[in-house]
Amino acid sequence: MIYFKECPKCHGDLLAGKDADGQYLSCIQCGYLRDLLVEVAQAPVRETFVIDAPKTVRKPRKKVRVAA
Ligand SMILES: [Zn+2]
Repeated sequence: MIYFKECPKCHGDLLAGKDADGQYLSCIQCGYLRDLLVEVAQAPVRETFVIDAPKTVRKPRKKVRVAA
């Protein structure tokens, strides 16, 4: 994906890329590089919530097969 004229340095075109560290934007003209932060990493989960979900009662199905 290309963001035209979005470079803060030279107002060049930013090209969205992806590597092992995540997504980034790089300028084609001047080489400006900007990392795109992933939203998931912003909120660390400290507590684990146990949700009492009603267990689905499964009726045991017996295989009713009459042997001839
Ligand atoms: Zn640039």
